[in-house]
Amino acid sequence: MVLLATLLTAAAAGFGPSLEGFPVVPSGAGPVDTADTAAKVGCSSQYLQDGVQLPDLPLFYERVAPGSAWGTPEMVELLVETSRHMRWLMPEASKLIIGDISQQHGGVLEGHKSHRGGVDADVGIFRTGGWQSPRGFTDLYPDEFDVEANWALISAMLETGLVDMVLLDRGHINRLMAYTLRTGLLTPAEVARIFPDEGSRGSWELSGVVRHAPGHTGHLHVRVLCADGTKAE
Ligand SMILES: [Zn+2]
Repeated sequence: MVLLATLLTAAAAGFGPSLEGFPVVPSGAGPVDTADTAAKVGCSSQYLQDGVQLPDLPLFYERVAPGSAWGTPEMVELLVETSRHMRWLMPEASKLIIGDISQQHGGVLEGHKSHRGGVDADVGIFRTGGWQSPRGFTDLYPDEFDVEANWALISAMLETGLVDMVLLDRGHINRLMAYTLRTGLLTPAEVARIFPDEGSRGSWELSGVVRHAPGHTGHLHVRVLCADGTKAE
């Protein structure tokens, strides 16, 4: 089970678990210099500098388009860490389906308004029974949305402390709010923090939140923070 205290502390601290011993960088690209990465100030939502390609880890996830699977080190860490967590927590569930992130150097990616700076990724969500289609995203009605598996996925993402925001359809968000309250996984205050009222002032300044966006009934969109914990500009 996800410990909310850990989640919120990690989010506040702005860093997640390490990827010790994990091949997040394709061989030949050289190791990520963590000191260098940590010193880098900010990141961009428009272009990608020193992007890392999401490694091929077929045990954990399927990359729909490896050529558009380039992200910041934080994005790669988020996706590897989250999918590893899901394997451990729900081994019987389908592996994650990772859609577009960005091109190697970022810039306009066909079919998307964002996905230009390696800080945005589309990730499949689970249909009832913990199932995801390996053929790609399919739109789900709220009653087809596997609330337990999808909350496990989203809370694993939030727990890394790397998430700026998650975009999802309002119908699915409503089910997550009811589920986390009913089961006591979240307190009402935590629900209000993670699923801010769209109209609430200042909610766009918060990180680690789940918000409505149209067109997100079959996948979620996650945006990561920069290495220094700030939002991409
Ligand atoms: Zn997207």
